[in-house]
Amino acid sequence: MPYSTFDFTEEQVLMRDNVLGLMNRVLPPEKIAELDRERRFPREAYRALAENGWLSLPYDKAHGGMDASHKDLAVFIEALGYHHPGIRVSFMSTAVYGGLYLQNLGSDALKAELLTGMQDGSIRTAIAFSEPDSGSDAAGIRTRAVRDGDDWIISGQKVYVTNAHEADYLVVSTKTDPDAGRRGLSLFMVDTAQPGFEARPMDPLGSRSTLLNEVFFDDVRIPGNRLLGAVNGGWHGLMRGLNLERVLIAAAAAGGCIKIIEVAKNFVRDRQAFGKNLGEFQAVSHKFADMRMLMETARLVTYRTAAMLDAGEDAVTETAIAKVVATENNFKAADLGMQVMGAAGYVQGDMQRLFREARMGMIGGGTSEILRNVIASRMGI
Ligand SMILES: Cc1cc2nc3c(=O)[nH]c(=O)nc-3n(C[C@H](O)[C@H](O)[C@H](O)COP(=O)(O)OP(=O)(O)OC[C@H]3O[C@@H](n4cnc5c(N)ncnc54)[C@H](O)[C@@H]3O)c2cc1C
Repeated sequence: MPYSTFDFTEEQVLMRDNVLGLMNRVLPPEKIAELDRERRFPREAYRALAENGWLSLPYDKAHGGMDASHKDLAVFIEALGYHHPGIRVSFMSTAVYGGLYLQNLGSDALKAELLTGMQDGSIRTAIAFSEPDSGSDAAGIRTRAVRDGDDWIISGQKVYVTNAHEADYLVVSTKTDPDAGRRGLSLFMVDTAQPGFEARPMDPLGSRSTLLNEVFFDDVRIPGNRLLGAVNGGWHGLMRGLNLERVLIAAAAAGGCIKIIEVAKNFVRDRQAFGKNLGEFQAVSHKFADMRMLMETARLVTYRTAAMLDAGEDAVTETAIAKVVATENNFKAADLGMQVMGAAGYVQGDMQRLFREARMGMIGGGTSEILRNVIASRMGI
């Protein structure tokens, strides 16, 4: 990636080059296309991340991790997002989502039971918050958790749960006090091998190597120590990870912009029309300039926000801005990339896949509209 490095440290450059080298070996372009076509989880690449220790990156040293800063993680996720959104999403499902919920909210006993497996790749997780009648309105859920002696019984339905069909455990949001709104939410780590659990893969536009699922809980019994945080304290747990999640989705989108430009450039270099190379038409070359500006601004907002978070700033507005700008830029860049490739971009191939993948960023992890609400409300509007 011959682009600005925003004062990356030597270690960050090494990390980026190392993980990209690894991914080029275990997940070459033909394998990415195969996984997309066959809708398969990137198993070999995930194992390679585990074997090379990368699944420990986000955790505290005290929990066996590498204590990565926001910027370290942004560099890493940008590289994975550039290589293949499927491996980026798979990494985040466990190492950032499930793993950090466990690290930050789980009991010592639960951490002792699961954290090592999450870091060595033997345990994979996913997050199950969205429901058929409640997506953006995360407190409007209906899935119930009811105490039964020392256990909890979970019943209800979730939807759009990435990688649920591949996960060993799900972080599940539930209502433990149905009349208390946000104050009635609790989070649990649910073992997907329990009777009463079912995941049914869906048919999404993109994300085909990390399928979304409908998930059903039919009186799933789980031990009391699977509670994450306090009973009815789930809202606080959900909010705690938002800044990191949003800046990392922005980083992934920035990586997507870089890949789109590369694919489009490779195509245009060899393509002739009207006796000229395509790039000689100003209407085409300007689209490249636009893609470059989209990529540059996506990266600028990402790394500026990561630096603010590392400096301990509140940065709620900036993480919302980073996610909106970078994900919308990713989709605009994919649209331009497809246009400069003509029908070759529209039929199955890298650009078509990148276009499909780019669309998810503006919906998952807080829609562009909800984030605009956050930005405006913090402006006092
Ligand atoms: C690729 C992908 C992966 C996903 N992975 C997961 C996952 O692993 N786990 C999980 O739990 N969920 C996951 N989701 C679901 C995601 O979290 C939800 O799609 C998201 O929260 C929006 O909810 P919704 O789709 O129900 O849309 P809704 O909330 O119903 O919104 C529909 C539209 O209305 C707009 N809208 C809603 N409320 C407002 C408002 N107050 N102001 C302005 N506009 C509003 C939204 O912005 C959107 O445009 C995933 C989604 C995608 C696309």
